[in-house]
Amino acid sequence: EGVSEVRVAVMADKPAAPVIIAVGSGKGGVGKSTLTANLAVALARMGRKVGLVDADIYGPSQPTLLDTEGVRPEARGEKLVPVQSRFGVSMLSMGHLVEPGKALAWRGPMASGALGQLIDAHWDGIEVLLLDLPPGTGDVQITMLQKHRPAGAVIVSTPQDLALIDAQRAAELFAKGPVPVIGLVENMAGYTCPHCGEVSDPFGRGGVESAAQAAGLPFLGRIPLTLSLREASDAGKPPAAGDGEVASVFAAIAGKVSD
Ligand code: ADP
Repeated sequence: EGVSEVRVAVMADKPAAPVIIAVGSGKGGVGKSTLTANLAVALARMGRKVGLVDADIYGPSQPTLLDTEGVRPEARGEKLVPVQSRFGVSMLSMGHLVEPGKALAWRGPMASGALGQLIDAHWDGIEVLLLDLPPGTGDVQITMLQKHRPAGAVIVSTPQDLALIDAQRAAELFAKGPVPVIGLVENMAGYTCPHCGEVSDPFGRGGVESAAQAAGLPFLGRIPLTLSLREASDAGKPPAAGDGEVASVFAAIAGKVSD
């Protein structure tokens, strides 16, 4: 009897595994990494203990976005120790492990193995682990979803038709997981001219919201296309860490995701 009591105590001491939330897109360049970084920062500002895995092996951009370029993670035992960004987000990226550009040559099984190491790291104390998935809906993504079973997924798309068709594919990918889709985010809608203030919609507007409605999925929010967002991102200053209008957009999306 004494032995089983000890065992119970040991199990209770084991830290709870973080809730994994995947961020996916049907294709590249729609702002998936930008959204993931800023969601992480917004969640950290809400007091959540947030981790981020940059699984975008074809173009790991999280070290740039969260200003941890050139930092190399240490290993403790067999596992990697996440890198600390100055925005309160613990993180691991393929970009922390390989020389810039080298990751491009990776193929399925090798990539899946390395990605597994990023997820199976020392995430002790982390409540929410955001997963910046590689763009698209290929084998690497399916393997990841089936192996690591995220609790939910956020899909980001730009408003144009083509991107929406791809977002639909992403929704089908998550259904295969099966991973429940938390909702859709529209990015790059409504460009405000920095000179005259006129708002235009280079990629259309509202398409993602109507696609979400048609699919019976929640619409989580709309991120405007802004020059300052792009510049701040490239400079390693996620807008969600600031106090502008865009920061409140990310905070609102983070609120819905963490519910
Ligand atoms: P993905 O991860 O989907 O490939 P990224 O997040 O890397 O896309 O974004 C692609 C490019 O678009 C980056 O240069 C990024 O700064 C820029 N970008 C993303 N969202 C916006 C936006 N709302 N306004 C302006 N630029 C954006």
